[in-house]
Amino acid sequence: MPVELSIVIPVYNEEDVLPLLADRLRPVAEGLDAAYEVITVDDGSTDLSPVVLQRLRRDWPQLRVVRLRANAGHQAAISAGLATARGDYVVTLDADLQDPPEVIAPMLTAAREQGVDVVYGVRGDRSTDTAFKRLSARAFYRVIRTLSGTHAQVDAGDYRLMSRATVDAINALPEQHRVLRFVVPALGFPSASVTYRRDERAAGTSKYPLAKMIRLSLDSVTGFSTAPLRFATWLGLLGGVAAFGLLLYALVAMALGHTLPGWTSTVVAVAGVGAVQLLCVGILGEYVGRMYTHLQARPTYFIAYDSLTGTGPGAVSGADEPARTESRRA
Ligand code: UDP
Ligand code: MG
Repeated sequence: MPVELSIVIPVYNEEDVLPLLADRLRPVAEGLDAAYEVITVDDGSTDLSPVVLQRLRRDWPQLRVVRLRANAGHQAAISAGLATARGDYVVTLDADLQDPPEVIAPMLTAAREQGVDVVYGVRGDRSTDTAFKRLSARAFYRVIRTLSGTHAQVDAGDYRLMSRATVDAINALPEQHRVLRFVVPALGFPSASVTYRRDERAAGTSKYPLAKMIRLSLDSVTGFSTAPLRFATWLGLLGGVAAFGLLLYALVAMALGHTLPGWTSTVVAVAGVGAVQLLCVGILGEYVGRMYTHLQARPTYFIAYDSLTGTGPGAVSGADEPARTESRRA
């Protein structure tokens, strides 16, 4: 039977939350008038998540388990789900029930009735997030919108519904370290949005430590804009003007006979110019590094297992050949 809706869920060490997720998601999915599959992408969990998923699968035939060989990160896990999804529509949501599954129904209705390609889930109320999270998120979206000129919705995370055309377009992108919440709006496909209230995590703890948030920000900025490179140019110009000013000052001072050795100004100038140069080299390095990664074309995830085919991807189900590893860029 053709699948109409794929629900993609990245899972990383979510053993506590998975049973709750199943209890809440299943009635919702069953209530939709669409043939569906739920694809949980186990992002190399080290807890009992894979065991819990297999147990849930026993009496939930629509549940599909895709396991990555190693932890590849939230965005890469979603990309793996998009690459394996079969539905005409694909919804991506977090495992921790912060994105209420009940919103899938209005999303699907909006997509069908308005004929749009993307329906964004927009967080109308973030009062359940910590103040730090809210503040950092707001700054994050503002900076990226300004730098990149993309029309990413503020407060739209990774809870969204996409049409087959959108998913195919994303899968075809050669880009690595793609940040989907900016890649999707950048496609510019017709879209709608559904507002929802973001709940608190149902169980377990956040899998997004500060380091991962910083990496996401860097990927977002460098993935969408060369503005930081321009920033380096401006800094260089500014440094040049300052240096010229200093030169004039030094000449005047000399002419007036204030020939005190300009130790302070020398130190300031050297330090200032050095700092600007280091900063610019650093910015260049970010981009050069990314070009290098692209040239290596190293996949961002490896699929180890897919319950749909039994073993590794492409394997004939039930055949006892060793599981092969499929990889795709994300
Ligand atoms: N996640 C993942 N790989 C990771 C980190 C997180 O697949 O390396 C998943 C996680 O299981 C969850 C979603 O991404 O389903 C969002 O993570 P989390 O809820 O911890 O982030 P937060 O809501 O705190 O930003
Ligand atoms: Mg969460």
